[in-house]
Amino acid sequence: MKLRDEREAVVAHARRMDADGLTVGTSGNLSVRAGDLLAITPSGLPYDQLTPDTVSVVDLEGRPVDAPLRPSSELPMHTAVYRETAATAVVHTHPVFATVLSTLVDELPAIHYIIAHLGGPVRVVPYAPYGTEELARLGVEGLAGRSAVILANHGATTYGADLAQAYTRTEYLEWLCRLYVEARKLGEPRLLDAAQIAAATAAFADYGPQPRA
Ligand code: 13P
Ligand code: ZN
Repeated sequence: MKLRDEREAVVAHARRMDADGLTVGTSGNLSVRAGDLLAITPSGLPYDQLTPDTVSVVDLEGRPVDAPLRPSSELPMHTAVYRETAATAVVHTHPVFATVLSTLVDELPAIHYIIAHLGGPVRVVPYAPYGTEELARLGVEGLAGRSAVILANHGATTYGADLAQAYTRTEYLEWLCRLYVEARKLGEPRLLDAAQIAAATAAFADYGPQPRA
């Protein structure tokens, strides 16, 4: 089987996405790149039926290489993100709070320093029908300098250096959106400025487990 490890990772993260409530029904899709190929969830398959052999392997132009089922309808968005960014993995979801904000604002502002993990305030790009080249183009434009984008009246897309990072970024994004929605219920939240986000970005360069000094 081509890309066995990548297919298994796609299944594990897709199941997690479903269990974590980051999407609903068969919505959402994710992919991981290995060289000139990518493994991507098939279109419309319930997550409890997803197995490594049902995952589609396609080339970077989206042509099927080993795909028993039709690949995700958002394949154009995934291939566009791989073309235009340093992504090795892409996660697309319909999480509640990100999608709520996608109907109300043009940007998720810097409500918390964690937004530095996403490159700063997250854009909401205009609506385009799912699965279209237009949505792929808008999504990639919205990702300029960011690793997350919110798609109006639709959901969110994040990318990362691997599936774990792309997935965690979706979790951060949804948590930040929830924070903003909750704060706005009580008043006008205080926001961080560009210098404060830049300082958080610099601090994150050294963040993570380190040998004890
Ligand atoms: P697929 O099932 O084709 O991946 O589509 C789900 C989705 O979220 C479309 O935007
Ligand atoms: Zn979608």
